Amino acid sequence: DTIGRNLDRAIARHPDRDALVDVPSGRRWTYAEFGAAVEEVALGLLGRGVAKGDRVGIWAVNCPEWVLVQYATARIGAIMVNINPAYRAHELEYVLGQAGIGVLVASLGHKTSDYRALVEEVRPRCPGLRGTYYIGDEASWAELLARPADRARLAAREAELSCDDPVNIQYTSGTTGFPKGATLSHHNILNNGHRVGQLIGYSEQDRICLPVPFYHCFGMVMGNLAATAHGACIVIPAPSFEPAATLHAVQQERCTSLYGVPTMFIAELSLPDFASYDLTSLRTGIMAGSPCPVEVMKRVVAEMHMEQVSICYGMTETSPVSLQTRMSDDLERRTGTVGSVHPHLEVKVVDPATGVTVPRGEPGELCTRGYSVMLGYWDEPEKTSEAIDAGRWMHTGDQAVMREDGYVQIVGRIKDMIIRGGENIYPREIEEFLYGHPLISDVQVVGVPHEKYGEEVLACVILRSPEDGLTLDELRAYCHDRLAHYKIPTRLQIVESFPMTVSGKVRKVELRERFGG
Ligand code: ATP
Ligand code: MG
Repeated sequence: DTIGRNLDRAIARHPDRDALVDVPSGRRWTYAEFGAAVEEVALGLLGRGVAKGDRVGIWAVNCPEWVLVQYATARIGAIMVNINPAYRAHELEYVLGQAGIGVLVASLGHKTSDYRALVEEVRPRCPGLRGTYYIGDEASWAELLARPADRARLAAREAELSCDDPVNIQYTSGTTGFPKGATLSHHNILNNGHRVGQLIGYSEQDRICLPVPFYHCFGMVMGNLAATAHGACIVIPAPSFEPAATLHAVQQERCTSLYGVPTMFIAELSLPDFASYDLTSLRTGIMAGSPCPVEVMKRVVAEMHMEQVSICYGMTETSPVSLQTRMSDDLERRTGTVGSVHPHLEVKVVDPATGVTVPRGEPGELCTRGYSVMLGYWDEPEKTSEAIDAGRWMHTGDQAVMREDGYVQIVGRIKDMIIRGGENIYPREIEEFLYGHPLISDVQVVGVPHEKYGEEVLACVILRSPEDGLTLDELRAYCHDRLAHYKIPTRLQIVESFPMTVSGKVRKVELRERFGG
């Protein structure tokens, strides 16, 4: 179905239940109020002449208006383009041009970025941009709503829409290079959001705390769409991730579910006053986006009461989730795998050189097929046909092993695999091992060029207490006899933090560039 009609059903079922809560501002909307607010924005955008298929950009950190624009654009058949809140002028200019954005809804800024100044800077070079409306500027927001279309026009537009129409251009995280714009239909993302929520057992009793960015599929599909598809409530703890604000929101709103990438959970568990938060309302949540160290997972289950935490694997291009753990799965499956395939999807693991499916238990490239595979990269047919083959299989670029029981382990990105003197080395294995080192708080392992071996193993380490120090010899002594000799890091770099994407992933590509020389 379309996202608009799906929302209408939730409103009809329980108009008085909470739909959206913004903890920082204290604003809240019931389903009936949320539906009315969405309609107001939809009528405003229609009144501004937004046609079916027009691209409407949204550039803001998490805030209620972001969610209103998400549903309003879906209702009028526009294609919403999620713009990364961390973008600077040249990236903004690129996305405005690449996606052909006619109308932009932006917040006034974030942290040190003045969005309005950046928009003004690029506007002369973006002739397609007809109108910009600012969240947080009352006059500008009022202008967006000032000349609403009448309801009959909205109804007529909605009647024209098909679930296969594109609804969204979502850019990938840009972990491995420049982000790519995945074009997704109502059918793609609404079904995926619905299914993610169904496997967790969401109902209108659930209240979902979302510290993950809306601009990314984790927030907008696995969060917002999963919530409204099951009548649950979206709780915004802060505009961007803050560990203390997140736990405060869980406590205040009695949230039942909490999302995060592993680094977010690590930050929450590391708060000095962690034990003072009442997190007993939590039962579930989603951890996804990158591999989770086993020790972290155990603490999330035991100390955050998230016995039913769900592990999801996916990518923007597949709406996003294709693998997920089930509620009945034991801790071994939740820590050792990213779950099994979603209903109505197929996954296979192939030899990337030949495309032939490898036996279970052997590593290869993970591929996904089914309703959730994107329509294509926006305006990039060549990249689309590199990623999606003639049989409609999406090639993920991730190395995976399917176990005998059908559960899948992600070994790492194919691009991150280190080949040292002909030996294949999976950074994750070394990272998991080094997490056990008493002085190490976080670690990333990358391959860097080496004259003789082609590549060598570099460990980038964040220390628990920097004053302790750690030498390469000490690190190597720790690994001696416990890791195969060729896997033992030959270089060590102590760092204070890792370069991250807004979706919370470490950009190994940048670590390689920085320290590879
Ligand atoms: P880009 O494609 O721009 O380099 P990206 O791949 O990080 O960035 P996303 O679509 O946000 O962009 O992320 C998808 C990727 O995240 C997957 O291909 C996989 O590498 C990783 N990933 C997602 N979920 C998990 C998980 N549960 N465990 C391990 N890795 C995961
Ligand atoms: Mg990717």
